[in-house]
Amino acid sequence: MLKILVRLYLITIVTFSAANYLVPVVVIGLFNDRFMRYNLEQSRGFQSLLNEQFHRVPIDQWSALASSLDQRFAPLQVSLIRIDDMTFSEPEQKRLRNGEDVMRLGDWGTTTLGVSPLDKQWAVALRVPPDPLDMNLLFWSMNVLIGAALLACLLFWLRPHWRDLERLKQTARYLGQGRLSERTNISPRSNIGELAAVFDTMAADIEHLLNQQRDLLNAVSHELRTPLTRLDFGLALALSEELPLASRERLQGLVAHIRELDELVLELLSYSRLQNPARQPERVMVSLDEFVDSILGSFDEELEAPDTVLDVLMHGSLERFALDPRLTARAVQNLLRNAMRYCERRIQIGVKVNPEGCELWVDDDGIGIPELDRERIFEPFYRLDRSRDRATGGFGLGLAISRRALEAQGGTLTAEQSPLGGARFRLWLPTVAETAVS
Ligand code: ADP
Repeated sequence: MLKILVRLYLITIVTFSAANYLVPVVVIGLFNDRFMRYNLEQSRGFQSLLNEQFHRVPIDQWSALASSLDQRFAPLQVSLIRIDDMTFSEPEQKRLRNGEDVMRLGDWGTTTLGVSPLDKQWAVALRVPPDPLDMNLLFWSMNVLIGAALLACLLFWLRPHWRDLERLKQTARYLGQGRLSERTNISPRSNIGELAAVFDTMAADIEHLLNQQRDLLNAVSHELRTPLTRLDFGLALALSEELPLASRERLQGLVAHIRELDELVLELLSYSRLQNPARQPERVMVSLDEFVDSILGSFDEELEAPDTVLDVLMHGSLERFALDPRLTARAVQNLLRNAMRYCERRIQIGVKVNPEGCELWVDDDGIGIPELDRERIFEPFYRLDRSRDRATGGFGLGLAISRRALEAQGGTLTAEQSPLGGARFRLWLPTVAETAVS
């Protein structure tokens, strides 16, 4: 916004200065005759009084009279001048010979030189010297003050627009972060009131559509669970009976499919629950090293494999930190599970706390993630089409859930290149005020 204001001010200042210089030049150029006549009329009396002074004395005293008048009129300059002087143009000489006055105009159409013929040979010239420096400065300061008043007026007019546009920008940002109930609430009387109203309607439509989608996903997932449980139960019953080996194997295959479907439904339910804006994170103070330990505890079996090395780096003094343990553990577990799937041998977890927040990263030395896919992998059901990915067989929901779990706490989750050669997932949680901790 500041950029707009600075640009507007620059444009106004340049335009004002250029107009101040050019407009008088153009107008005086276009209406030169009228300006000339006006100045001649204004100075007629003055010039004729001067002429009278000269005609009262003999011609040989004109020069002395001109000097004495010059002193009395200072800073205006009075001088005797020959009509055939080279400084006069042809038309000016013609006017003087015809007994008419001659004028020259300066800035803003004011007189700089007035010449009156005394006889066929001589004329008296009254020259207005340029304004002294202090007067010039005063004129300029008047211009500057007028310009400043204009700019102040502009700022006064712009302020409510600025405030409303900032509000619009902030609301758009909140909507992007998933706070779908945010509205601009800009008064309809504002100059951008109509735009804000259209924006608010759009936001309401988006909220409605997304809620509908979430409710549908939730309902379908719930509805699917009951028949799946029944099927699982039925198959377990069937398996408890005496069966030929081939049928038993086929039934066991079906049970595996049903368990997989059930897992998908559970993942979908977690994802749609995390999308619910009404769900507030439940932050509690946890000791970070104990928290990391407890997460690693759930991977005891996998970590016992001799071909995987896991290092934990704790940077600085790890104080207690306020976070939602369930949501955060869910995210970190997903990241660790992926790291175990994709690593060659090494996994590294790092934790660092600073006054702004807590950073936790999970590195591995696996195949990594191509730069172009580092954002897309957080989309639900997005899986990279690599032989390794097909072998690991997830649903592509893990990272989407992890990111949502962090965003629900105002944090972020990003993927980058790990110094170990594979992928690094960087998780960041902001420090919250004590009052927000339950
Ligand atoms: P899935 O449950 O299918 O693994 P995720 O959402 O957890 O789904 O991951 C999405 C995709 O991101 C995976 O299919 C995989 O291609 C890629 N990915 C995730 N973690 C890693 C990792 N540590 N190294 C390389 N690729 C990864």
